[in-house]
Amino acid sequence: MKYVGFKKEITTGRYLNPFGGFEEKEVTIELRTDEITGVACRILPYRVRPAQKPDLNFYLDKSPESLCPFCSTLFEKTTPKFTADIIPEGKFRRGEACLFPNAFPYDQNNSVAILSSRHFIPLDELTPQTMQPGFDVCRDYFHRVAEMNLGYKYCSINWNYMPPAGGGLIHPHLQTIVGHKPTNFMHRLLASAQSYAAAENGESLWHNLIALEKDAKERFITSTGVISWLTSFAPKGMAGEIDFIFQEKTSFFDLTEANFTELLAGLAKVFSYLYANNFISFNMALYAPMINNRYFWVQGKIVPRFVINPLGTSDLNYFEKLHNEIICPTVPEELCRELQLYFQQ
Ligand SMILES: [Zn+2]
Repeated sequence: MKYVGFKKEITTGRYLNPFGGFEEKEVTIELRTDEITGVACRILPYRVRPAQKPDLNFYLDKSPESLCPFCSTLFEKTTPKFTADIIPEGKFRRGEACLFPNAFPYDQNNSVAILSSRHFIPLDELTPQTMQPGFDVCRDYFHRVAEMNLGYKYCSINWNYMPPAGGGLIHPHLQTIVGHKPTNFMHRLLASAQSYAAAENGESLWHNLIALEKDAKERFITSTGVISWLTSFAPKGMAGEIDFIFQEKTSFFDLTEANFTELLAGLAKVFSYLYANNFISFNMALYAPMINNRYFWVQGKIVPRFVINPLGTSDLNYFEKLHNEIICPTVPEELCRELQLYFQQ
């Protein structure tokens, strides 16, 4: 089984430390590259993580229910509808969850799904029960799109939870994308799996990645049945990255109701961990082909997001935006051990 392309190099910085009588201090920096994702990352184990929970009222006060387009008084008046050929009712509904077209679309097919009529759901209340209707309307929508047979091949379910992660509204909502072409990052994952298979007699990159990570016992959090949960070798965010991969599921439509139940139970555990560690925000994406593609196993990522107070400093900076490298003061192997405790509960 071939190594999957994780590269690590160690470099050392030196300075005279003003907090230690100007004695010489050495700091270790790990340069990591993940050839599957193309992510380059610098793990800085000497840096502390954000320790205080941000004041949620800062966001809640500025975004009251009365001004929220997803809250009940404004909702029907201000949210777009689908054309009748897609759904005669104009929107996909499951209980209070509702999926409708994005008024500011990023793609030909970009929709928004509110989880419920609840204006704000704190991270520790994102239970499988509160999330399920929102994911169900996404599934209903994808099934309808497939039924219409328009030749779309790729889809994703995405989440900017709260403003530090780019959420424009605090009312919890998912976003879906359906397209003929994969997004740039999905394309990278597919291309990596194709090259791996070409070089390794058709072997599955995802199968081997999981097997190698499981054996290494460094970043493999657990398997909850069909889903393997891992921390990423080279995270896409300062606070690390949590990955989930559905074993042998090569299309969105391979996912059963039970697979979604398993996913939401795992997500709730990750969110409990984030809540306990003072986070209030994350990005999530679930990537899937809409037609079986043997080079792709349905998978997803969660990247915790934060601002650094007191200035509300962004967790993105020139290194990520302009040099395509992530500065990560979170050690993935430590994040894995911490998350394991939550999955054991
Ligand atoms: Zn609202």
